[in-house]
Amino acid sequence: MVHNNSKYSSTRYHDSSLQEFFSFEEVVLKGLASDGGLFHPHEVPDVRSKYQEWKDLSFAELAYQVIRLYVDDHEISNDELRSIVDQSYSTFRHPDTVPLVTLDEKKDLHLLELFHGPTFAFKDVALQFLGNLFEFFLVRKNQKLEQGQPRHHLTVIGATSGDTGSAAIYGLRGKKDVSIFITFPDGKVSPVQEAQMTTVLDPNVHCISVQGTFDDCQDYVKALFADPEMNKIHHLAAVNSINWARILAQITYYFYAYFQLLKQRPDLQQVKFVVPTGNFGDILAGYYAKRMGLPVAKLVIATNENDILHRFWKTGSYSKKETPASEAHAGLKEDGAQAHEDGVKETYSPAMDILVSSNFERLLWHLTLEYELESNPSDGLESSVRAAGGKLNDLFQSLKQTGSFTVEPEILNKARHIFSTHRVSNAETLETIKGSYQGKLIAKSKYVLDPHSAIGVAASLREIAGTDRADVPIVSLSTAHPAKFAGAVELALQEEKEFDFNTVLPEQFVGLDSQERKVLKVSSHEGLGGLRDLITREVEKEKSA
Ligand SMILES: *Cc1c(COP(=O)(O)O)cnc(C)c1O
Repeated sequence: MVHNNSKYSSTRYHDSSLQEFFSFEEVVLKGLASDGGLFHPHEVPDVRSKYQEWKDLSFAELAYQVIRLYVDDHEISNDELRSIVDQSYSTFRHPDTVPLVTLDEKKDLHLLELFHGPTFAFKDVALQFLGNLFEFFLVRKNQKLEQGQPRHHLTVIGATSGDTGSAAIYGLRGKKDVSIFITFPDGKVSPVQEAQMTTVLDPNVHCISVQGTFDDCQDYVKALFADPEMNKIHHLAAVNSINWARILAQITYYFYAYFQLLKQRPDLQQVKFVVPTGNFGDILAGYYAKRMGLPVAKLVIATNENDILHRFWKTGSYSKKETPASEAHAGLKEDGAQAHEDGVKETYSPAMDILVSSNFERLLWHLTLEYELESNPSDGLESSVRAAGGKLNDLFQSLKQTGSFTVEPEILNKARHIFSTHRVSNAETLETIKGSYQGKLIAKSKYVLDPHSAIGVAASLREIAGTDRADVPIVSLSTAHPAKFAGAVELALQEEKEFDFNTVLPEQFVGLDSQERKVLKVSSHEGLGGLRDLITREVEKEKSA
């Protein structure tokens, strides 16, 4: 059985002399297309006829069903895929994997807890799967080796300001033929996050503390990926949130949340999802779920003060810099978080501190193609695909050159039809943690939100206040465990006499501080060259061990 939708193309494909289709394996191992675009599935399957079959499945079984639709069984057999998926979700601590908790019956507000994986953040849902996929592809390549040929080896390099690093490390620790190098700015990640990363002692895991900022780390990683010498010695791979396998794995929990609600009320019609968003990865998975037929009334984007998405939905312009007017509108005077030189603001929700939202390009591609098909119906699919790719290519060239682009009104209308947005300030984030704990904002009391999840809940409450359709339940996505962001949580709850941080501290975090650590250092003097030599040296050591 060959699925058409298990073929992939770049969002910037427009030149028919270049490669149009990619396999799932190519997409996963490449991460980014060579024209700078992102890979997208050629077809999104409609699964509405499968609900009866799907509604009582466990999370892992459902994940298998969803992922199967996007991966050709010539590439990964049913048994192989089942075992990859089972292994990926066996590391989650909760029997429901991603449990749904009701915060307020009357408001019909529910929280989908996505943080029961190894690093206590939602990124585990995707990175546990991606790590197993990498290993699967590498092991298979190496089984096919002729005598005397060198083994295939993957060198994963990433930069982190916190969450991605630990989730990637836990996804890849101990995997055969894969080394992972995670750079982080020295002294600038939270103590829990640093401890989570550096206490992993597996020989294939390398944490590198870089003297500099997060931007320096990112610049180094970009430079290494562009370095011909590095590419000659290593097969480099990335695990950042543009990797299609990460989006794919996240589609499952939208269906799972819907089926959990459906069990409570068989007459369930539609659901709204509210998603705290940075790189647009999490909510993009919800968009695919909707395209697959899930009855989603609205996808609600909740941003922090890094609000490029919120501004896009207001104006149709996607712009790195705020215009003076939007700055006044955003009320920066009262709640302004510290802004960096490049414009990124440091907030209480650091995993959402971004300047641009990389995965937004995928949404724009789908909307642009739809528009092309509608406005030139006689042109046919193939030429519409190329027209959409050409437009995307132009838009992102403009973003690179001028820092912004503006889409056609028809495309903005399409985006507004499916999504709405809320921008949540730093002050409101803390107020939401506090008011939720006190049971003032939600009926459930003593519930401790992490600052990212609080942004979702703040947006949910605004959404509820601003709508008359109380019949649509809201599922707000909770992306991290509060213990990961102790600073903001303690700040918000400092006046709560009954609150004791130890009551939310998971046993896995107790004593993490005093465990043995493994961390390499690169000084600003050693810089990029030092980092490059270190990686090559460590990979050599691993291979000869
Ligand atoms: C990464 C992350 C987010 C943002 O997810 P995107 O996919 O980038 O939108 C939100 N919250 C937490 C805790 C995260 O780690």
